[in-house]
Amino acid sequence: MKYNRTYNFSAGPATMPEPVLEEIRDEMMNYRGSGMCVMEMSHRSPVYQQIIDEAEQDLRELMHIPDNYKVLFIQGGATLQFAMIPMNLMKNGVACYVETGAWSKKAIAEAKKYGDVHVVASSKDRNFCYIPNCDDLDIPENADYVYICENETIHGVTWPKLPNTKGHVLVSDQSSMFLSRPCNVSDYGLIYAGVQKNVGPAGMVVVIIREDLIREDLDPRTPIYMSYKTHADNGSMYNTPNCWAIYCCGKVFKYLKSIGGLEEMEKRNIDKAQVMYDFLDSSKMFTGTVDKEFRSLMNIPFVTGDKELDAKVVAATKAAGYDNLKGHKSVGGLRASVYNAMPKEGVEALVEFLKKFEAENG
Ligand SMILES: *Cc1c(COP(=O)(O)O)cnc(C)c1O
Repeated sequence: MKYNRTYNFSAGPATMPEPVLEEIRDEMMNYRGSGMCVMEMSHRSPVYQQIIDEAEQDLRELMHIPDNYKVLFIQGGATLQFAMIPMNLMKNGVACYVETGAWSKKAIAEAKKYGDVHVVASSKDRNFCYIPNCDDLDIPENADYVYICENETIHGVTWPKLPNTKGHVLVSDQSSMFLSRPCNVSDYGLIYAGVQKNVGPAGMVVVIIREDLIREDLDPRTPIYMSYKTHADNGSMYNTPNCWAIYCCGKVFKYLKSIGGLEEMEKRNIDKAQVMYDFLDSSKMFTGTVDKEFRSLMNIPFVTGDKELDAKVVAATKAAGYDNLKGHKSVGGLRASVYNAMPKEGVEALVEFLKKFEAENG
């Protein structure tokens, strides 16, 4: 393999497209005649302004983001949004959350600090291995929004269709599925994603927010950084942004456009995940932990049912050049994260290895 890289199945920070890493390398010492690296550049320089403008424009084109939505690049990762969302969107102090796994649980705990949180559906009863039916939720009239985590990175469940919010604003954490398939932005009031899962380096979140949800009348103690208006009014540059992450993400947006956009990406992701799921469905040693119709295309947890054997498989995969397959402690076993940048060959090679392991240890 070129560069002697490992197949990296990490849930995040995660593998990035090699052509993007190569471009970044080539521009490292002197970005396009500027005489400096992007890391060294003033964020107020025209050359950097072009980088951020293009990143936003390319993302808008990729996702067909309507003009009445703002695109914001904010620091603090996805976790900061657990607080920023209620701080900014809770006008009546009431919101509905669907509890589908570890990340929605964290969002719920944080939102409770700011208002009245209704957990309107949950899949806790079976350790979050499915998405509850959300066709007829009990949503209070004055609820400010309905919140979902659209792909639960740890539990490996994804929403086959969006909940019926009965006209209320939908807020979605897309961190671990962002740009993995086409997305109809106007179905949502706010979409956000920490970029270190499926796009670029850690330390930034992309927020796509409908303009009418950006308010001025926040609690006056709200930190200025925590107001969406601050970021919207200043083109994501009220203070120094994560210049490097914006630059790298911009390259990934261009790369996705060059391969045919999100329709093509979805095809590849379905094809790739199928290799893994076909194997799990035929294996006698390994079992996927999620009900079939809710299986994620991005994060695939699986177990042998025997903790010692799980640990043995993880060690064997690592020794063979397949890294970061240890499952999260709340699910156990293994987890293969197969984000956009994981090539199909990586999954095929892993499956061959697991088949061989099963034959030798079964
Ligand atoms: C990783 C992750 C987060 C937290 O992201 P940070 O950037 O580490 O704060 C939130 N939600 C989901 C779905 C995630 O996968």
